[in-house]
Amino acid sequence: MHKAGFVNIIGNPNVGKSTLMNAFVGEKLSIITSKAQTTRHRILGIVNGEDFQMILSDTPGIIKPAYELQESMMDFVKSAFDDADVLLYMVEIGEQELKDEAFFRKITNSKIPVLLLLNKIDKSDQQQLEAQVQLWTEKVPNAEIYPVSALEGFNVREIFNRIIELLPESPAFYPKDQLTDKPERFFVNETIREKILMHYKKEIPYAVEIDTEEFFEEEHIIRMRAVIMVERETQKGIIIGHKGAALKRVGVEARKDLELFFGKQVHLELYVKVNKNWRSDQKQLKRFGYNQK
Ligand code: GDP
Ligand code: MG
Repeated sequence: MHKAGFVNIIGNPNVGKSTLMNAFVGEKLSIITSKAQTTRHRILGIVNGEDFQMILSDTPGIIKPAYELQESMMDFVKSAFDDADVLLYMVEIGEQELKDEAFFRKITNSKIPVLLLLNKIDKSDQQQLEAQVQLWTEKVPNAEIYPVSALEGFNVREIFNRIIELLPESPAFYPKDQLTDKPERFFVNETIREKILMHYKKEIPYAVEIDTEEFFEEEHIIRMRAVIMVERETQKGIIIGHKGAALKRVGVEARKDLELFFGKQVHLELYVKVNKNWRSDQKQLKRFGYNQK
């Protein structure tokens, strides 16, 4: 049985969310970290095992909205409730409550399993810890409470295993091998593929494969070159479009997304190549990650 799902980490800034992520990665296997702004989530990392895939994301720190931009940030945080499978609510020892009451009520009313992680217990003593566990049990009765030290690794493995228990049965959402292998190039491929899906009729995207041949990061810019492979000469013409306009649109839109994704200026060179047999060629399929066994 394979499990996969989305895990959202929420909590005030500085409570130790990133440290926990790192601890998870230290426990386990493969990860990709990025500043990815996917549609709703900032994907922090994907932890892959043979029979699971855990997709972790965090949200901007929880703050009381003081102006419009922050309001929209809080909307973003609230979306964490809608499409996660498990919610990790992290607080640090000594912390009393969230600044936003309405948000806090959403946690206590959550239909999704909530693990309340009481972090930095290495800084506390038994008495304080007991008092804090008591406090949070009353405040968030629907949560499972775990004292944790993300920094020292206390309870990290137990929490990790508990999350996997809670994940639904599902195939992986992201190809496992490619992510562990060349995460940046994988995202470049996917971004270009998405634009092609948006702008061409169905038979085109199915005939297309993308390979990012070059990914070269300089101080202020990332230079990428990707080839869009098609099976026939006619498809090549369609991809390129009249005076190159169609291909240019793909390039411009993909570049914008990639700049957001990597948080850096991007130079993206795209070209189209006819590769008659890419679909039937075993070696090539393997290279693109289809033939994983
Ligand atoms: P985030 O803003 O929630 O992602 O928090 P970070 O992971 O960046 O951690 C903020 C600070 O808390 C850093 O200085 C960490 O080293 C520290 N920290 C995180 N976890 C622990 C912990 O378990 N114990 C202690 N003593 N410090 C921690
Ligand atoms: Mg952080």
